[in-house]
Amino acid sequence: MDEDFEYCGECTVCNEPVDLSDMGNCSECGSVFHWGDCGTWNNGQHMCQNCIQDKCDHDWEDIGNGKKQCTYEECQKIKDE
Ligand SMILES: [Zn+2]
Ligand SMILES: [Zn+2]
Ligand SMILES: [Zn+2]
Repeated sequence: MDEDFEYCGECTVCNEPVDLSDMGNCSECGSVFHWGDCGTWNNGQHMCQNCIQDKCDHDWEDIGNGKKQCTYEECQKIKDE
């Protein structure tokens, strides 16, 4: 393991170890996550991908086959119409 690695816990999204320089701290569930990969800003707060998707209130676009996709690129939730 990289000796500069500062372990901050397991990512709540992908279950891999999180480095301090790479860490986000979810304002919703309080878990750590990989910043940029497993979560990002959501309404001005750090939020993990799981919570972003749980709380999705973004705009949706029709992607065909009776499905809609969230237009927020960090969310990308898909639901049946
Ligand atoms: Zn992760
Ligand atoms: Zn969360
Ligand atoms: Zn969304």
